[in-house]
Amino acid sequence: MLKILIANRGEIALRVMRSCKEMGIKTVAVYSEVDRLSPHVLYADEAVCLGPAPSNQSYLLGDKIIEVCKKLNVDGVHPGYGFLSENANFAKKVIENGIKFIGPSPESIEIMGSKLMAKNAVKAFDTPLVPGTDQPISDIEEAKKISEKIGYPILIKASAGGGGKGMRIVTKSEEFEEQMERAQSEAKNAFGDDSCFIEKYVASPRHIEVQVLGDHHGNYVYVFERECSIQRRHQKVVEEAPSFVITPELRKKIGEAAINAAKSCKYFNAGTVEFILDENLNFYFLEMNTRLQVEHPISELISGLDLVKEQIKIARGEKISFSQEDLSINGHAIELRVYAEDPQNNFLPDIGTLIEYKKPEGLGIRVDDGFREGMEIPIYYDPMIAKLVVWGKDRTEAIERMKRAIDEYRIKGVKTTLPFGKFVLNHPNFISGDIDTHFVEKYYNSDLLNETINEEEIKVISEFITLKNKLLFEKNNTQKSISNIENSSSNWKKNRPQAV
Ligand code: ADP
Repeated sequence: MLKILIANRGEIALRVMRSCKEMGIKTVAVYSEVDRLSPHVLYADEAVCLGPAPSNQSYLLGDKIIEVCKKLNVDGVHPGYGFLSENANFAKKVIENGIKFIGPSPESIEIMGSKLMAKNAVKAFDTPLVPGTDQPISDIEEAKKISEKIGYPILIKASAGGGGKGMRIVTKSEEFEEQMERAQSEAKNAFGDDSCFIEKYVASPRHIEVQVLGDHHGNYVYVFERECSIQRRHQKVVEEAPSFVITPELRKKIGEAAINAAKSCKYFNAGTVEFILDENLNFYFLEMNTRLQVEHPISELISGLDLVKEQIKIARGEKISFSQEDLSINGHAIELRVYAEDPQNNFLPDIGTLIEYKKPEGLGIRVDDGFREGMEIPIYYDPMIAKLVVWGKDRTEAIERMKRAIDEYRIKGVKTTLPFGKFVLNHPNFISGDIDTHFVEKYYNSDLLNETINEEEIKVISEFITLKNKLLFEKNNTQKSISNIENSSSNWKKNRPQAV
């Protein structure tokens, strides 16, 4: 593979490009009009604009992306996460055009993209499932009977679900119909598929997921687990590896169960098998994510692997070059997702300009981001600004390091989850490892954050940044016109604006 196109934006596009660079592989960025000055665009060897900001006019245009690949002689596509990463049709078209898709087969994506198909696949492979139904609910009365048998509370889940959407807790039979209708309409709106099923609602679970790698030769390894129980709206905010509660014996058991889940759909490349773990340390399969996860850096820090390089090598047809026994856990890693969200207002997404943006530095700190000071957080995409990741020789050191890193991180202009991260890291239950997915509901109260924001200062700097951006755009346009006259060739790299 000589040239890889990254069908994504922001931090993940940049992160993939860095590994490509180390492997001597050229990179192509794609971008929407609002992202034209983004670090991922400036970092790539070549960059192509896909269209206006909304994802359905840019990052989701699979056919256009494939056209770009053909025009620029791209031989591999890395989809990152989100956007087209779990779109089996896109993967299929990429492959049909003679380009390598750096991910699993379209068939694996399809099976694991449906929670119901996934359950049916893994069932035959000895992977424990949460008690519930494995077919879409078609008869409400029948579904109620099953729920009585399982025992309330139960969870109604959308088969096509993702990002915590289409999930409803039902505590008693009388609520069933109403919650069912809500789950179905939410699922229909979000995924165009209203199939829902029932699962026992595990009262106090931890979210544990296992990183797996599989190659085209039938070899599999698990790269240990990540503990992702600190969530808001069923979405992760703080993740750590390894998990505080997983013993070596349980690690082996859950790791092998994850590999079995991967085998059930003949999986290759990097994937993540998600489980919930109950209070008695029983684990149950939730779903498999057929892509690189947001939180993959913590697995990299404890294992020493570069998962993107492994993905590329696997896509090239190489065998995984190490065995399970070669892998070991070194130290402890924690990730905080720094979102442009207001933790004092129910984590509502915030938009604005990064009027001050200074990253923390020093031993054991990794920041994966896709923004620079002065940039705006666009409203069109996921509001994640950065992933703040720390490594320590043990959990205590990792916690202390994360607290220092949060203190050093300077972000002004938008509200962020940094103060929330500090709250979590200081919380006695987090420190003692006594957490479950209800941590936020149980312990968090926005009054506990004492963020002070100087509104006047923000206003003045905002105006300055707006002016600076305006000048930057003008400079960019002028440069473009000059370049167009000088060189009408399609080599964007030569003509593109320089980072400022
Ligand atoms: P999504 O694909 O929408 O992310 P998941 O099935 O992965 O949905 O579940 C997301 C989160 O919802 C889990 O991490 C967990 O917190 C909660 N959850 C899911 N299933 C159950 C369950 N059966 N009992 C309790 N909590 C659950």
